[in-house]
Amino acid sequence: MGNDGNPKLCSHDDLPIWAQDNDFILRGYRTPGGTSDELQARLAGSTSASTSTSTSTANGASNGARQRAGNGKEEADGSVLTTKLFEHDSVYKCWRSVWDYVHNETVNIHTHFWGVQVALVAIVLHTAEVLGWLPEQLRFVTHNPLFYPAAIVPPTPAIVSKDSWRSWLPVGRGAAAQSPSLPPSFNALVSLPVLRPSLMGPLHTIASQRPNDWKDVAGFAIFLIAAVVCLGFSSFFHTVACHSRDFAHRCNKLDYIGIVVMIVGSFLPALHYGFYCHPRLQAMYAFMITSLGSGAMYTVMSRRYSTPAYRPIRTSVFLALGLSAIVPVAHICAMYGFEAISRTMGVHWLIASGAMYVVGACTYMLRIPERFSPGTFDYFGASHQIFHWFILAAAFAHYVCIRRAYAFWHTAEAASGPLGGGAQAVCLALEALRAS
Ligand SMILES: [Zn+2]
Repeated sequence: MGNDGNPKLCSHDDLPIWAQDNDFILRGYRTPGGTSDELQARLAGSTSASTSTSTSTANGASNGARQRAGNGKEEADGSVLTTKLFEHDSVYKCWRSVWDYVHNETVNIHTHFWGVQVALVAIVLHTAEVLGWLPEQLRFVTHNPLFYPAAIVPPTPAIVSKDSWRSWLPVGRGAAAQSPSLPPSFNALVSLPVLRPSLMGPLHTIASQRPNDWKDVAGFAIFLIAAVVCLGFSSFFHTVACHSRDFAHRCNKLDYIGIVVMIVGSFLPALHYGFYCHPRLQAMYAFMITSLGSGAMYTVMSRRYSTPAYRPIRTSVFLALGLSAIVPVAHICAMYGFEAISRTMGVHWLIASGAMYVVGACTYMLRIPERFSPGTFDYFGASHQIFHWFILAAAFAHYVCIRRAYAFWHTAEAASGPLGGGAQAVCLALEALRAS
């Protein structure tokens, strides 16, 4: 009934307690391996699963496999259970389950597995670009208009030629407008014609005049490697979650570690571009997030805090880590205004990214939609799967945000470079905007 014709699957009620998690998902579970005691007994040469389970019980070891959910009573029909027990007792069998048949973790595994592949491709493309090896045919991916802020594109490459920079000066706006010796103002930078695909060539020409420095490279490397770690650990955890109680428990920690790495890895490049003109604020917020991240990592790794009694503390640490993003985002919006920041670093993508994490996490915690129709979303459409899709979308939105910030600074610095002094000029223009 619970296996839909696949002997490798079972229903929620067939699961040992350690493998039970969501009461609203009724079918499609991979029949799990046992506890480590059971597995060791089996490896030691027990002739049957039922022998090993009774051995571990006789030793007084915790034996969730023989207990039903909720009431905790002993498994009555041991023969039924033991034919299922140990089906996925090796990492290899868990791995085969990813490719050979559909079960209720299939979508969870594949969403993040393919997310890892996309992040790896992005790492290769970024590396090729930094090294100057990127083929022309792939530029439509790496230089997609999505990655460029809409309104900072000079109409032609001629705009950056010597002397023509004065035409960027706005009329009668702020201190920058008063003297031609001042750099092009921010207002001029952002009020140029809206991006059109035909202008992408000139934009890249201009942006590439300002080469990547180590901070650009480190920022994207940190974000993309964090994405690989987070999605990779998650995908691995879901693959082996049916292996055995102890192994699943350890890999669940890996899953948490991946989340911490992803949050910190997303923060750092966004801080770099967001507070580009304010190194002290960059350092302060970087210190804040790495401290919080270290605290969260300690909480996740520590044996003491892994007990159910500390669940509220664990939850609070993750919540604090995620919500701490609100502080620097609010700070930078207060400094320059939302409009300016959405143009310089695509902050609306950053906010969309945060909102998707929150909506995804709420869907996951509330078990929507399966709680309204238990059994309907066993294989497809369950809350955990929705959560995974939201994580992918949020990571992509975050990537767009930092790409836009990168494009803004490179274009603006290159464009103001010959006379305006690069980053310093743009920072002055931004400060003029704040003062106006
Ligand atoms: Zn997951």
